[in-house]
Amino acid sequence: MKKPLIGITQNYDENAMSYSLARTYVESVKKAGGLPVLLTYVKEEDLDELVQNLDGVVFSGGPDLEPALYSEEPVPALGGIAPTRDNFEMALAKAVISAGKPILGICRGCQLMNVACGGTLYQDLPSQYKEGDLLKHVQSAPRWHGSHSVELVPGTKLAKCFPGETNIRVNSYHHQAIKDLAPGWKVSAKAPDGIIEAAESIEYPFLMAIQWHPETFYDFNNFDSVFKKFIEVCK
Ligand code: MN
Repeated sequence: MKKPLIGITQNYDENAMSYSLARTYVESVKKAGGLPVLLTYVKEEDLDELVQNLDGVVFSGGPDLEPALYSEEPVPALGGIAPTRDNFEMALAKAVISAGKPILGICRGCQLMNVACGGTLYQDLPSQYKEGDLLKHVQSAPRWHGSHSVELVPGTKLAKCFPGETNIRVNSYHHQAIKDLAPGWKVSAKAPDGIIEAAESIEYPFLMAIQWHPETFYDFNNFDSVFKKFIEVCK
């Protein structure tokens, strides 16, 4: 059987003019049975053709999103942004959605998909989140360590990746998070402080957005279920 071709978005250094991506993303796709291809920033008019050749797309982690994309001005604690990457990925998101291909958004990719579908973000949790006592969401623990728990919402596609589990431990590297959920989405996991840690589209065939970094666990057998599920639906 042909392996599904999985496009993965990359970081772009505007000064060095070079692309980069953590190897964990490609290893996770390969391990789950997909064939990874790293996406470069092609012209908008070529996006539909590019997407037609792919069986699924992973929107990877990276810098903060330009707040103007959800009609906000920047707050003082906004981090570095990547306008070229924002422009490419927002256009790519629309092309992938109109083609109906499966989507996995990770960290920045989770936030970007929420914004692309009409939601908003906290630009900076420590200075903006007032709904509860905020946990440490930028962990100092090693990358593979699950530093805080999340409660899975029963019946969601995400919960089905972890049969028999209602609570899992995840790693955490974000100071931004989903604020208003995109229309037609539902929350699939929340941290104990109320932060949305995962969400998914209700109607779209497969659009899973995850705030933590499941790709970091590719070497740990019990934690690659998200990628397994994603590659399965891309087949
Ligand atoms: Mn977190």
